[in-house]
Amino acid sequence: MADVRIGVVGCSGRMGINLLKTIAATAGCAIAGGTERPGHAAVGGALGALAGLEDVDLAVGDNAAALFAASDAVLDFTVPAATVMHARLAAETGTPLVIGTTGTDAGEDAAIAEAARQVAVMRAANMSVGVNLLAQLTQQVAAVLDEDFDIEIVEMHHRYKVDAPSGTALALGKAAAAGRAVEHDAVAQRGRDGITGERVRGGIGYAVLRGGNVVGDHSVVFAADDERLELTHKAADRTIFARGAVRAALWLQGRAPGLYGMKDVLGF
Ligand code: NAD
Repeated sequence: MADVRIGVVGCSGRMGINLLKTIAATAGCAIAGGTERPGHAAVGGALGALAGLEDVDLAVGDNAAALFAASDAVLDFTVPAATVMHARLAAETGTPLVIGTTGTDAGEDAAIAEAARQVAVMRAANMSVGVNLLAQLTQQVAAVLDEDFDIEIVEMHHRYKVDAPSGTALALGKAAAAGRAVEHDAVAQRGRDGITGERVRGGIGYAVLRGGNVVGDHSVVFAADDERLELTHKAADRTIFARGAVRAALWLQGRAPGLYGMKDVLGF
């Protein structure tokens, strides 16, 4: 069977480079090409050189439409505005799309969902197997423990991350809310500063740390009087996300249009 040709938009980003390496290292896949934001310094340069892949004879492009046309699937770990543009291109060309971008607003989420009516899209705030298992466990534990247990979600990422709380932290909060059968946005406490008053019973709190080159640490803390249960995942390398993204790109081949999650890909 021919290799599945996978394109990478945002190919010179932290995740973009990892995605190129992971496609090259995965049997049955080939790099279809990569794009960067028009005007970016990487455009026109050697694509393979970004990832130490000297035998890849392609240049970094800035024409996303051409990349979608040349790909069997595209991986998008960029910024929300670019992701919305890429989702529209996916719908127009019928090319399945894997979206890892976080920090989207409600309008951007709606635009992605609209595109997914016409093409298969897999979207996940975190593509590691371990974090998806953590979300499942969080939902189960939240379903068992009542509101005597305060739920706090603590995350730490590298100093360059631009959105907070992380998309993964919010996904874990939503898993906890689903376990308790409550509306996440009605109970989320996303920031505390100054005289905040006492903790609201049933609230799901977030705490955000930024520093160094931390790839991504997440803990869900269930704190009651006299006992505390903590579930923690620590990512040591971005390759865990890239492997999940490539796995999803293969899984999307031949799928009906729709918005899928990592749970679908992993068969949880
Ligand atoms: P980054 O800033 O290193 O990379 C983003 C890249 O996208 C940059 O190179 C930027 O120039 C490029 N870009 C911006 N606009 C573009 C456009 N119009 N066309 C093509 N490229 C464009 O960031 P990063 O650390 O790689 O993270 C990217 C996103 O992925 C963030 O939202 C992050 O939270 C998310 N992320 C998700 C997962 C996951 O598993 N879902 C894992 C890690 C990171």
